[in-house]
Order: sequence, then C-alpha cells, then structure tokens
Amino acid sequence: KVRVRFAPSPTGPLHIGGVRTALFNYLFAKKHGGDFILRIEDTDQTRFVEGAEAYINASLDWLGIAVDEGVAQGGSYGPYKQSERKDIYLQYAERLINEGWAYYAFDTPEELSAKREAAEAEKTKFSYDMNTRMGLRNSLSLSAEEVEKLKADGVAYVVRFKMPENEEVKAVDMIRGEVTFNTAILDDKVIFKSDGLPTYHLANVVDDYLMKISHVIRGEEWLPSMPLHIMLYRALGWEDERPEFAHLPLILKPTGKGKLSKRDGDKAGFPVFPLEWKLSDDELASGYRECGYFPEAVVNLLALLGWNPGTEQEIFSMEQLIEAFSIERVNKSGARFDPEKAKWFNHQYLIHRSDADLAERFLPILKEKGVEADMALVQQVVGLVKERVSFVAELWEQLSFFFVAPTEYDPKVVKKRWKGDVPAFMAELSADLEAVAQWKAEDIKTAISAKIEEKGLGFGLVMNAFRLALVGGGFGPDLMTIAELIGKEETLARVRNAVA
Ligand code: GLU
Repeated sequence: KVRVRFAPSPTGPLHIGGVRTALFNYLFAKKHGGDFILRIEDTDQTRFVEGAEAYINASLDWLGIAVDEGVAQGGSYGPYKQSERKDIYLQYAERLINEGWAYYAFDTPEELSAKREAAEAEKTKFSYDMNTRMGLRNSLSLSAEEVEKLKADGVAYVVRFKMPENEEVKAVDMIRGEVTFNTAILDDKVIFKSDGLPTYHLANVVDDYLMKISHVIRGEEWLPSMPLHIMLYRALGWEDERPEFAHLPLILKPTGKGKLSKRDGDKAGFPVFPLEWKLSDDELASGYRECGYFPEAVVNLLALLGWNPGTEQEIFSMEQLIEAFSIERVNKSGARFDPEKAKWFNHQYLIHRSDADLAERFLPILKEKGVEADMALVQQVVGLVKERVSFVAELWEQLSFFFVAPTEYDPKVVKKRWKGDVPAFMAELSADLEAVAQWKAEDIKTAISAKIEEKGLGFGLVMNAFRLALVGGGFGPDLMTIAELIGKEETLARVRNAVA
C-alpha cells in the first residue's frame, strides 16, 4: 500500500517549496489510493518555534490537502511527533553502536571548531570521517576504560555513524534515475545528540521504517542526505523494506538564477501564507491568502512547478490533478517561479467564480471604505469588471466610482479631453439628461447622441469627457451602464460638478 509522508520541522515559515512537497505527496498518495501522513519532525529543539505546528495544519487545511494520519488525526503508527518518540530512537542508536555501525564521540564544540579553523588556515576543510576519526576523542580511538570513565564523569557525547570506508553504493531515485556514490567521500554524521534526541537523519529513517512509508518524496535539498539514509537502512537491516526515493526539483527565482527565497517572494509581491510565515501580526498580514489568492489557484500553480501533465492543459482542480499526476512527469531541472503566471492563475479562478460569491468577498473591502452598498448593485458591478482583475482587492480600484463620486480628475485626461467646445457642451448636456424619462442605458445614449448631432461634435470626444465626469479618469466599463447604475441624480450631480 502506498504510504507517503510530509515531514516538516516546526521551525517557523512553511515555504513555498515545503507546501509543494506536501502537495506532491498528497497527489501521489491519492492517485494510488494510499495514505498521506503528516509527521512533525521537532528533534531540533534549538530551532523550535511555538505555534508553527498549528500553522502547518492550518495551511494544509486551507489548501484542501487532507491528512489521513497525524498528530490531530491519529492513526496506528503514532505518535506522529518525533519529540514524543524519544525512547524509540535511543534504542536504535544503541543497536547501531553495539553492532559496530556507530560510536560515541566526546569532542567538545570548542575542539571541533579548533580543528575547523586549523583546516581553514591550510585552505582545506575539516571533516569528521574515516581519515580523521582516529585522531579525535571517540570510542574508536579511546580504550574501553577511557570511554567508561568519560561517561561516568558525565562528559557530554554524541553518537556518530561509522561510515564504511570504501563501498560503491547504488540507489535509484524515481526522478533522477540511478545514483551511485562511494562511501569514502561521506563523513561520520552525528545521529544522536548530547541532549538525548536523535538528529534528523536517524529519526527520519527510523520513523519512515516504523510508519511503513513506501515512498519518500521530498525536496532536492535532501538529495545529499540520501546516501547516509541508504546506509542507515542497511545498518539497521531494513534494506529490503526501504522506501523508494523521489527528490523534487528546486523552485527557482523568477530570473531562473538560484533558489527561490523569502525575499524573492516579497519583491515580487508574493509573500506566502501559507507558504511563508512570520510571527508578528503585521508580518502575518502578508501571505498568499492575505494577498487574496484562492487556495485552488495556489494548488494549481504549485502543481505545475516541476510537474507537467504532458498536455496543454493548465487549469486543474484537485481531483483532476490527482487523476493526472505521476512521478514520471516530474522534471529533474529546477522550476522557475513566475509571479505574473501566479497572478494569471488567480485571475482564472476569479473570473469563474459567481458574481454573488465575488460580491460577498468584496463586501469587507467596501465596508472598510465606509461604503454601504446594495448587494444587488455590488453583484452587478463586480460582474462588469471581473475580467480586469486578478484579486478581489483590485475590484475597488475598478469600481470605486460606482459608490463614491470622483474627487479628482486624471490631469492627463483633462488636458486631452476637456477642451474646446466640450465644457460648454457638458454644461448644456445637464438639461438634456434631465429630460430623459426612463433612466436606462439605451435612452441615455439616445439623448446624448441627439445632442452631439445637434452640436456637430465628435462622438468619441464627448464620450471621453462624459466618462471623465462620471469616473474621474479614462477607464471603466460601458459608460451608459455606469450612468444607469449610479442613477440619474448622481449622474447629473457629477456632470455639474465636473463643469464647475
Ligand atoms: N524534516 C525535514 C524537513 O524539514 C524532512 C525532510 C524529509 O522529508 O526527509 O524538510
């Protein structure tokens, strides 16, 4: 049975890459009728951030990524939070030591940084590995008595993995194909820390095994850890039950150069709830959700970062993604994040929402602007301009004149349109408009056209001036519809105001 996991560390921001990893795991699980597990990897207490776990849950909820097993959902393989599994890891660390796959290391942080500095002075890099381990303070270089003494004295120690010296190891990555590495280039990683907790590597491998994870799908930044993980599976005797690996391509900056970072998000105007997260209230205001993205649009745009359906189709619902998804169509090369394309996706989802739904979402903005509008009118005007916006918040720019008269007039339009016979014509137009009995777009147009003909002016010129009076600039939907919707009195007031 397919069982995959999303295994974030609650260290703060859930980045765009993290959410994409969650999504791909979810799509893969659902495609194969499997389970999607959420495991909280909180063994690094120095990086723990209060509230981060709740935020991860809220993010997945918002996106519609349903968790089958996890801290909140429960399941038969719990606990799903690593800090609650401490005793389990200790047992495996000890087993590795007893079987000669790991050893105690007593080197203090000071001793190790002295080594690093010395190496740097010689323009080399210090590595705790098969070449150096015998010159360091550990249970391989010290006698059994010395080790016992250090432990009895309460000297802090870590457990390191004893990387075999020269073994050719082959592994298959579902996206990258066969990966071969030689253990000689790998160092002796810490697998258990002095604080009584495992490091990521040990906890991750032990949990994937115990939770019967079938496929490990994660970001490319973890590819360098794969050799160690494979060696850990071997050392623990779990090679036959080892999950398959798939490392997802990086998400690149809009320029295509380098990995997308927090700052690119900000720069492009796309800080990312739930993709990026900050603690203070001000900062919390920025994020995908806060920017007005629809969760469906975020899911859709993330799905296409590194995966393609092999067709021209770009708009996918979650169900369609599940149906179409396959690891074979995930690319090896990095996926460029295009902020304009991201907006385009949101626009696609916005225009397909009903006017009633958009009006509902626009209401809080109207309220904030102090506008009390009739819902029927709001629905109608939203429908007129939705093709022009990507976000609900942009509706105000496009629609404000329906609710409040312009207080200023675009000087460029004034200069170009409000000249010659126009001011006088507009002054006279009031009377003609006053005479329109049925205040409907068609009748208003008939009245104005008649007047234009009588005066022999250009239709376009007058219409632009009329628009300037009603809207304050040279934009907006059909002018006669605007006049009709704001009403006769308001239209006349605006024309008079512009003339004055
Ligand atoms: N805890 C790791 C992270 O924060 C999980 C990596 C993995 O999926 O193996 O991304």
